[in-house]
Amino acid sequence: MARHTRNSTFTPWIAAALTTALTGVAACTADAATTSSGTGDPAPGAAGIGDTLHPGLGNGGYTVRHTDLAVRFAEDLTTYTATTTLRGRATRSLSRFNLDLTGTTVRSVTVDGREAAWDHSGEELRVTPAAPVPSGQGFSVEVTVHAPVADPEAAGKLGTSAIGMVRAKDTVQTLNQPSGAHRIAALADHPAQKAPTTITITAPARLNSIANGELTTSRREGAYTVRRFESRQKLAPELIQIGVGPFTVVKRRGPDGIKLRHALPNGEVNDLLPQIDTVVPKALRFFTQRLGAFPLRTYGVYATPMGGELETQSLTLLGSEELTKEGMEANGSDTVVAHEISHEYFGNSVSPRRWSDLWLNEGHAVYYQSLWAQETHGADLVDVMKRKYQDSAAELRKQGPIADPEAGAFTPGDMAPYGWGAYQGGALALYALRQKVGEDTFRRIERAWVAENRDSTAGTADFIRLAGRVAGRDLGPFLRSWLYSEKLPAMPGHPDWHTS
Ligand SMILES: [Zn+2]
Repeated sequence: MARHTRNSTFTPWIAAALTTALTGVAACTADAATTSSGTGDPAPGAAGIGDTLHPGLGNGGYTVRHTDLAVRFAEDLTTYTATTTLRGRATRSLSRFNLDLTGTTVRSVTVDGREAAWDHSGEELRVTPAAPVPSGQGFSVEVTVHAPVADPEAAGKLGTSAIGMVRAKDTVQTLNQPSGAHRIAALADHPAQKAPTTITITAPARLNSIANGELTTSRREGAYTVRRFESRQKLAPELIQIGVGPFTVVKRRGPDGIKLRHALPNGEVNDLLPQIDTVVPKALRFFTQRLGAFPLRTYGVYATPMGGELETQSLTLLGSEELTKEGMEANGSDTVVAHEISHEYFGNSVSPRRWSDLWLNEGHAVYYQSLWAQETHGADLVDVMKRKYQDSAAELRKQGPIADPEAGAFTPGDMAPYGWGAYQGGALALYALRQKVGEDTFRRIERAWVAENRDSTAGTADFIRLAGRVAGRDLGPFLRSWLYSEKLPAMPGHPDWHTS
């Protein structure tokens, strides 16, 4: 998973909850078989988009052009009502289509303003419009649900509720990766179906609220404040952040005209802000110098007592306890910030085509986190990579290859797809590529990757093709031997390195 503490372990309640939260995903696969081929006679859309690791995520038969999510909280924050308005376009004639949804009570479903029939089981909401949606036609589906906001302590014991929206006292945050967003509202919950997104939060006026993107309007409505946030760049549901709490939003002008806005707990602003003012602009310059223009116009951190270290788009979720008074560079939490900022390029702007492409998110994040640690903390990159290489044989034996498109559906208790291979193995594969093609060519590959796939979706085969094109030679056999095998090849330039 892409949640990071300094020692790369999970907070136990998050890990426990994650393991159980995904139990139902595999149960959704059978529906995919109901899809007809062709675009002629109306037929049901598939329950998923064909992600072997998470077969139920995303939905077949349509593309998503815009997502609007409006969340209204109860005064005590224990429950909320969420309305999703999703504008899509049918890629085949649809008699019925699905949205991803679980753990909520459905209040209403309409298609193009007309009441639609629906049934909800497992993690799938099946919507039958009054009339079929012809192939190529745009449509709008609106789903209103009511749900509890999970308490993280209780969720840790119960398991399933911690992924999605969680609350501790007066603070709400979301932890969606990879499949928690559809615990919040009805969505097409796969990065390959990301779309520009508007999030409206109606929350008690005594508290503040924040979400991904830019604040566009704010108004008082009785005892509530209604704030609307716009993500012009496509936003994958797994990267949605919805924050409510006693926090202060501090605005800054960042490098290259990037608008910074940080949400910091009231009472901790004076301690945290000097650290963030030091680390964030420095990290943004570090990445723009290496990778080119930042993918977003707005960036900031959302520091909460719960934390979770997650790269929610334009608004990195951090645990406020990570940002201690001793300073982020003193305790190493600056490397976490560097890791999460790198995700704005790798994972957020360039989203994985399938979850088995996770190494493209996490391998890059760990690689650049290591580079940052070398520059700011003197941690020698070669030593860091050598240690990872030494560990590789044992880790790959346990967990399988770095990228594994043949892997079966995710099962609770087997965290291998979100383990060593994607993170440390992915970073090693990138280091091997750099050793193979040289620093200058490697930098050109990286810049081309984020520029050409900006605000889009790409997979492992795309990376292999692009690397070969930029380097001017076929890197397929080399990269495949690193990414798809259970024993890593010799590291170019380091014939003395051995695996355990
Ligand atoms: Zn990460």
